[in-house]
Amino acid sequence: MGECFLNRLARIINELSFEDLRLIKKDLEEGNIERLINKKITHFRKGDEGGVCPICHAVVDEENDLVFEFGHGIRKKAVFDAIDCLEYFLYKLKSQKQNSKKEELE
Ligand SMILES: [Zn+2]
Repeated sequence: MGECFLNRLARIINELSFEDLRLIKKDLEEGNIERLINKKITHFRKGDEGGVCPICHAVVDEENDLVFEFGHGIRKKAVFDAIDCLEYFLYKLKSQKQNSKKEELE
Protein backbone atom coordinates (compact mmCIF):
# COMPACT_ATOMS: atom_id res chain seq x y z
CA MET A 1 0.00 0.00 0.00
CA GLY A 2 2.37 2.74 1.33
CA GLU A 3 4.48 3.69 -1.67
CA CYS A 4 1.80 2.79 -4.18
CA PHE A 5 -0.64 5.16 -2.57
CA LEU A 6 1.96 7.95 -2.40
CA ASN A 7 2.74 7.44 -6.09
CA ARG A 8 -0.93 7.75 -6.93
CA LEU A 9 -1.21 10.89 -4.86
CA ALA A 10 1.96 12.32 -6.48
CA ARG A 11 0.50 11.65 -9.94
CA ILE A 12 -2.70 13.49 -9.04
CA ILE A 13 -0.73 16.44 -7.67
CA ASN A 14 1.53 16.50 -10.78
CA GLU A 15 -1.50 16.97 -13.01
CA LEU A 16 -2.78 19.98 -11.11
CA SER A 17 -2.15 23.53 -12.23
CA PHE A 18 -0.44 26.16 -10.10
CA GLU A 19 -3.83 27.79 -9.47
CA ASP A 20 -5.38 24.47 -8.37
CA LEU A 21 -2.49 23.76 -6.04
CA ARG A 22 -2.77 27.21 -4.53
CA LEU A 23 -6.51 26.65 -3.90
CA ILE A 24 -5.95 23.17 -2.48
CA LYS A 25 -3.31 24.49 -0.09
CA LYS A 26 -5.76 27.15 1.07
CA ASP A 27 -8.57 24.57 1.55
CA LEU A 28 -6.15 22.30 3.36
CA GLU A 29 -5.24 25.05 5.79
CA GLU A 30 -8.90 25.96 6.32
CA GLY A 31 -9.87 22.33 6.99
CA ASN A 32 -12.18 22.10 3.97
CA ILE A 33 -10.33 19.11 2.51
CA GLU A 34 -10.62 17.20 5.78
CA ARG A 35 -14.37 17.89 5.80
CA LEU A 36 -14.69 16.64 2.21
CA ILE A 37 -12.74 13.47 3.03
CA ASN A 38 -14.80 12.84 6.18
CA LYS A 39 -17.99 13.27 4.18
CA LYS A 40 -16.81 10.76 1.59
CA ILE A 41 -15.75 8.26 4.28
CA THR A 42 -19.17 8.54 5.95
CA HIS A 43 -20.76 7.97 2.56
CA PHE A 44 -18.69 4.80 2.00
CA ARG A 45 -19.52 3.47 5.47
CA LYS A 46 -23.22 3.96 4.96
CA GLY A 47 -23.22 2.06 1.67
CA ASP A 48 -25.96 2.34 -0.92
CA GLU A 49 -28.84 2.79 1.46
CA GLY A 50 -27.25 5.70 3.28
CA GLY A 51 -28.06 9.34 2.98
CA VAL A 52 -31.85 9.26 2.65
CA CYS A 53 -34.41 8.86 5.42
CA PRO A 54 -36.70 5.88 4.56
CA ILE A 55 -39.69 7.57 6.21
CA CYS A 56 -39.79 11.10 4.82
CA HIS A 57 -37.12 10.68 2.09
CA ALA A 58 -35.22 13.72 3.29
CA VAL A 59 -31.52 13.78 2.54
CA VAL A 60 -29.87 13.00 5.85
CA ASP A 61 -27.25 15.38 7.14
CA GLU A 62 -24.07 13.38 7.71
CA GLU A 63 -23.26 15.17 10.93
CA ASN A 64 -26.47 14.64 12.88
CA ASP A 65 -28.03 11.53 11.43
CA LEU A 66 -29.37 8.53 13.35
CA VAL A 67 -28.15 5.14 12.18
CA PHE A 68 -30.13 2.03 12.99
CA GLU A 69 -28.88 -1.48 12.23
CA PHE A 70 -31.21 -4.46 12.42
CA GLY A 71 -31.97 -7.93 11.12
CA HIS A 72 -30.40 -11.36 11.34
CA GLY A 73 -28.19 -12.85 8.66
CA ILE A 74 -28.37 -10.04 6.13
CA ARG A 75 -27.81 -6.95 8.25
CA LYS A 76 -29.91 -4.00 7.25
CA LYS A 77 -29.02 -0.44 7.96
CA ALA A 78 -31.14 2.67 7.83
CA VAL A 79 -30.37 6.31 8.48
CA PHE A 80 -32.89 8.83 9.77
CA ASP A 81 -32.95 12.60 9.85
CA ALA A 82 -35.03 12.85 13.02
CA ILE A 83 -36.03 10.82 16.09
CA ASP A 84 -39.69 11.04 15.01
CA CYS A 85 -38.83 9.19 11.80
CA LEU A 86 -36.85 6.54 13.70
CA GLU A 87 -39.78 6.09 16.10
CA TYR A 88 -42.24 5.71 13.25
CA PHE A 89 -39.91 3.20 11.59
CA LEU A 90 -39.69 1.15 14.80
CA TYR A 91 -43.46 1.33 15.19
CA LYS A 92 -43.93 -0.04 11.67
CA LEU A 93 -41.31 -2.73 12.28
CA LYS A 94 -43.07 -3.75 15.49
CA SER A 95 -46.51 -4.03 13.89
CA GLN A 96 -44.98 -5.99 11.00
CA LYS A 97 -43.50 -8.48 13.46
CA GLN A 98 -46.78 -8.73 15.37
CA ASN A 99 -48.67 -9.39 12.15
CA SER A 100 -46.32 -12.17 11.10
CA LYS A 101 -46.62 -13.72 14.56
CA LYS A 102 -50.40 -13.69 14.24
CA GLU A 103 -50.15 -15.41 10.86
CA GLU A 104 -48.02 -18.14 12.39
CA LEU A 105 -50.64 -18.78 15.06
CA GLU A 106 -53.61 -18.88 12.70
ZN1 LIG B 1 -37.25 11.47 8.09
